[in-house]
Amino acid sequence: MSAPFNFSAGPAMLPAEVMQQAQEEFLNWNQLGISVMEISHRDPVFVRMAEQAEQDLRELMAIPENYRVLFMHGGGRGQFTAVPQNIAGPEDTVDYLDSGIWSEFAIREAKKYVKHVNVVAGAVTTEQGKAIAAVNDWQLSPQAAYFHYCPNETVDGIALHGVPDVNVPIVADMSSNILSEPLDVSRFGVIYAGAQKNIGPSGFAIAIVRDDLLGRAQGNTSTIMDYTVQAAENSMYNTPNTFAWYLAGLVFQWLKRQGGVAAMGRLNQAKAAKLYDYIDQSSFYRNPVHPAYRSMMNVPFLLADEALNDAFLAQAEAAGLLGLKGHRFVGGMRASIYNAMPMAGIDALIEFMREFERNA
Ligand code: PMP
Repeated sequence: MSAPFNFSAGPAMLPAEVMQQAQEEFLNWNQLGISVMEISHRDPVFVRMAEQAEQDLRELMAIPENYRVLFMHGGGRGQFTAVPQNIAGPEDTVDYLDSGIWSEFAIREAKKYVKHVNVVAGAVTTEQGKAIAAVNDWQLSPQAAYFHYCPNETVDGIALHGVPDVNVPIVADMSSNILSEPLDVSRFGVIYAGAQKNIGPSGFAIAIVRDDLLGRAQGNTSTIMDYTVQAAENSMYNTPNTFAWYLAGLVFQWLKRQGGVAAMGRLNQAKAAKLYDYIDQSSFYRNPVHPAYRSMMNVPFLLADEALNDAFLAQAEAAGLLGLKGHRFVGGMRASIYNAMPMAGIDALIEFMREFERNA
């Protein structure tokens, strides 16, 4: 094996090229003789970099003019609290789809700030595996301030492909699938993502907010979580996570060099298809999700004999295949295969799985 492959769900592997560039310029950024971490966020050199990062993200995602891009604190869960406070009033009704663990955490948080949190539908078990209730069966509220869902449930490996047709602003937690394929941003009111999968270091988050949804924050919203304040201050109301912003910028440039999200989408599709095909033809491994709802980013799988789990993980690690342990809530295995995971990583994993089965 040429290098270890890191299948961690997040913080996850980042492109080797990006890490190398960050290393090379760590002590001397932009010929300044100091690190990007040691410079003021108000310095024109930093501000230029920050603006370029936003510009590159806008280009990559084809973000329309009437959306603001906010660089926020607090990761994905920070946005679980920011969304209800910014987009709904305390007496409003909001709709949430409960497709898995992250949706449930978002719902729990929304209940603190909004009186009526309506769960429109949840995950269902079918003969072909775990799935999401059909849209026709959702109990939508016509007057909801917004509809929230998580298109890619990182832990469960369940995805809702295609944007649901609902008539209120759509808010999407794209922490684990942002930038993984082309997307029509204009279908959404808010898109947010914790950074530590497809963007950069953890603790950082991006919120893409349609500008007509600004100006609605509840009166006691914490100022650093207030979209309107952050939009007015260009995400520099207080000191942002400058290093994460810089690293995200490097990842955006890397993505552009790869051919953008269209090229990434084709590669991600091919990676996931190869891994699922291998799992499906095996009686030793099994994926618990209905084929129409499978995630392209997080591939959970179970061994037919769970007593072999520890041996599988130990041998995988010895073979340089890291981070394959499933989330503690669901057990089993999970291969997270975000943008930075090359096809060679999929090939190495399949080869290992085949070998492990042969020797079991
Ligand atoms: N949403 C999703 C879909 C996630 O996968 C995660 C983290 N894995 C979160 C939210 C929470 O992110 P954070 O840990 O940055 O708060």
